[in-house]
Formats: sequence, structure tokens, C-alpha cells
Amino acid sequence: MIKAQILELKELLSTPKHIVIVPHKNPDGDAMGSTLGLYHYLKTYNHKATVIAPNDYPDFLKWLPGDDKVLKFETQPEDSEMLIEKADILFTLDFNAFHRAGNMAEVLENSEAIKIMIDHHQQPDDYAKYTYSDVSMSSTCEMVYNFIEMLGDTNRIDAAMATCLYVGIMTDTGSFRFPSTTSKTHQVIGNLIESGADNSQIHNNVFDSNSYSRLQLLGRAMQNLKVIPELRTAYTTLSQAELDEFNFKKGDTEGFVNYGLSLEGIIFAAIFIENKQEDIIKISLRSKGEFSVNEFSRAHFNGGGHTNAAGGRSETDMQSTIDKFISILPQYKNELSQPTNNGH
Ligand code: 5GP
Ligand code: MN
Repeated sequence: MIKAQILELKELLSTPKHIVIVPHKNPDGDAMGSTLGLYHYLKTYNHKATVIAPNDYPDFLKWLPGDDKVLKFETQPEDSEMLIEKADILFTLDFNAFHRAGNMAEVLENSEAIKIMIDHHQQPDDYAKYTYSDVSMSSTCEMVYNFIEMLGDTNRIDAAMATCLYVGIMTDTGSFRFPSTTSKTHQVIGNLIESGADNSQIHNNVFDSNSYSRLQLLGRAMQNLKVIPELRTAYTTLSQAELDEFNFKKGDTEGFVNYGLSLEGIIFAAIFIENKQEDIIKISLRSKGEFSVNEFSRAHFNGGGHTNAAGGRSETDMQSTIDKFISILPQYKNELSQPTNNGH
């Protein structure tokens, strides 16, 4: 973002406005952390701000400060549409194209509010008047911190804001271990702790709130794990029947895909999760090093994301989705068999 735009935004935000803040569908820690972090910031200027999530999100995020004020478009469409209609400003956070907001896409597209995008996904659309897009960033939460910093307002960061922003940086960096974690990321985290984020408690709230059935479901996903050593790939599956057997709740499969990557020598991991209600197979892809799962997903599975973390979907059944996946892999033989600088 250039200086002139920052000055314009500072002016725009200097008097109270009606503001709606939207994360992507199936919001994760970064989506909810960034929208709620920004929400608390805007409140310090007495804006009438509301976070509207396209749909529900996992329980392990439901303790975030301000969670009780979040509207869900899926279950509260009238209230949501009214607020979007009235909005002077619309922030879209942690996504790069309207379709990532699911059923909310059309309402957002038709909104006449001034649109501001803050996001770190690749290939952003250009619908926003103000776009702060940086794919090198660890998380949208780190960008919201930078945004507040650019506006000269880090002194306004209170414990609620700091807690929300900490959550998204923590979850999007795999607890500060992915290569997107920079010294600046750690400096931001240090500042957030000084502003009141209780780091140990936050880790506890997000990661140590497992149900017994979730751990059993993880066990099943690990039993289903398959390895293709010559292509340094590991993948696993969960059918709808397996999800039902272990009383699946939203968010329960979060992070399962990463276990494949923890196998020595593996640089590409995938999980295929059946969703009978939507009649799709939801796919999560992760990689280490140069191999771009964003490009892989865009090319074959109608999705996208980042170089090392992407999602996608398949409209066919589980077996044919897996067959397709396996048949595509050899096209990437060169990239998948090359050594990486990640210790493997
Ligand atoms: P996850 O596998 O955790 O659902 O998503 C990994 C990353 O890919 C996240 O940054 C997420 O926003 C992005 N992503 C997930 N699913 C899709 C999709 O269907 N399309 C696009 N463009 N990005 C996705
Ligand atoms: Mn993110």
C-alpha cells in the first residue's frame, strides 16, 4: 500500500462509519483472528463495525474476544444483508476473490460500499478500491498488524485485538514453524504479547480443546494414510461414514493433512474428505519447498491457496477422485523427486 492510499484511508476512517468485515467461507484461525482483530481496532474510533462470517466456524475459535458479536450469513441472511446494504466500507479479509465467500459472494459483489481487501493469497482479484495484498506474509493477521502500524496506531492495540491477531499468526504459521515466519513475524508477536496477548493460554484454547472423538477420528485418518515414496507423496481419506462414526464436528479435521508431511522424505501431502451434504470431496493439500500446491489445485481440483497450503474440491466420488490424483502425480515427477532445502 502506498503512502497516498494510507493517508486517504486515515482520513476515511477518521469519522465514524458503518463498516462490515468479512472473512472467507469456513473461516479458520487467521480469518476469524484478522476480522475480529480489525473489528476491535475500528471500535476504538467508534465505527459501527460488524464481522459477518459466510458460515459457521470451529468451536476452538469460539472463545475469541468479540465472538459473540459475529453474525453468520448462512443463518442470519436478513440481518446480514441489511448491514451490508447500509455499509459505507466493506473490508474483505483473508481471501482474494468473492467466490471464496460462498453464498455471500453475490451480496458482496453488489455492495456499493468502499471495498478494502487485506489478504495474503496468490492472484488476488481487483474488486477493491484499496488492496493490501502480499503473498509473502505469514498471515492476514500479520497484515492487519502492519495496517494498524501504517496508520500510526499501534498504541491503540489492546489485549482483545492482540489476542485475535496472535491467534491467526499462530495458526497460519503452524505455530511459527512454516517458512513464511520471519523475524518481523516474531517481532509482531512480541509486541502482541506486550499488548496483552496471553500466548500460553491462547495455545491452550486453540490446541488443547480436543474431544475424545476427534482424536479417534485422527487415529482413523492415520490408519488410512498411504505413501507413494518414489513421488515423496502421502495422502489420506475420510469418508462421510467415518466422519459420522466419530461424531464429526466442524473443525475436527483441521491440521490432519500436516501429519503426512511429518513423514521423513515426504514433501507433498493431501487429505480427501467426503462431504455428502454438498456432494463433494473437499481436498486439502500441503507441500514443503518449491512444489506449488496452489498451482496443482488450480490446474486439477478447482481450488487454490498458497504455494505450500491450498485447498480444492472434486465433484466425483472418493475412489475416482483418488484415482485421478494418483494418475496426475507422475506429471510432477521432476518437482516431486527433487531435493528440497527443508532437510529432506
Ligand atoms: P485448507 O486446506 O486449510 O482448507 O486451506 C489451505 C489454504 O488454501 C487456505 O489458505 C485456504 O484459504 C485456501 N483454500 C482452501 N480451499 C480453497 C479453495 O477451494 N479455493 C481457493 N482458491 N483457496 C482455497
Ligand atoms: Mn490466512
